[in-house]
Amino acid sequence: MAVRADGGLEVLQVKYGERMVNMSDVFHDYGSYGRPDGQLHMEYNFWVIRSDNDTYLLDTGYDISQRDWLGEILVVQPPDGLALLDINPADVSMVITSHFHYDHIGYLRLFPNAEVVSGAAEHRYWFGKWETGQLDGEFAIEEHLRPVQTAEREGRLRLIDQQTEVRDGITVYPVGGHCPGELLTLVNSRTGPLILAADAAHFYEQIENEWPFFAFTDLQEMREALAFINGLSRETGATVIPGHDGRVRQRFSAVDGAAGDIATVLG
Ligand SMILES: [Zn+2]
Repeated sequence: MAVRADGGLEVLQVKYGERMVNMSDVFHDYGSYGRPDGQLHMEYNFWVIRSDNDTYLLDTGYDISQRDWLGEILVVQPPDGLALLDINPADVSMVITSHFHYDHIGYLRLFPNAEVVSGAAEHRYWFGKWETGQLDGEFAIEEHLRPVQTAEREGRLRLIDQQTEVRDGITVYPVGGHCPGELLTLVNSRTGPLILAADAAHFYEQIENEWPFFAFTDLQEMREALAFINGLSRETGATVIPGHDGRVRQRFSAVDGAAGDIATVLG
């Protein structure tokens, strides 16, 4: 691992799946903008954040080979992606969950020693649905939520209801919109501050124009979350990384070696 003279953290994005989508399908009320339709390369990612002594993850990916929820195409199984980066899941000491959708927490069970950092509102929402038998048709199943429950039982779950620095140089911010308790992650990286937006902003267009995504639990909160991201970026000078945009990999460099096909150096 490279030495970080400035004390910043190493941040990698790992692509484990992909699919093509129409802009008119993924942006809410796209027709009202008077723009031509087009296709976007939607990638499915998780993020590795490393210091000299610790390895953290933001999200975990899921097993596309078991069930492709929306026609996702498998690029690499997340455990194999971690192996390519020489990361032993048992050594991951913290997993931040951006939210509890299948594509973000599907492999949470792989990290038995990690503190799990999640939005308090997200936890209330999903466990409320589970307890009242309302998970049908939602973007998560019991199997995805059970490792959250295990972490809670083992005293490894930390629920976030306000801006919180969870480790040196890593601050999470709860926002609503796409889900009730999405977490934004601001990281002091080796190259400067980064906002890992995950699904608070799937694509660059949503940041540039503050366009809501088609899937939301609260449209007004989603608009507020997009404005919050831009405000935080102005205030901190942070670069915003949308969670599912294939163009991120074109704007940053691939890691050296065998993992270069899937892993991108963000900071
Ligand atoms: Zn997602």
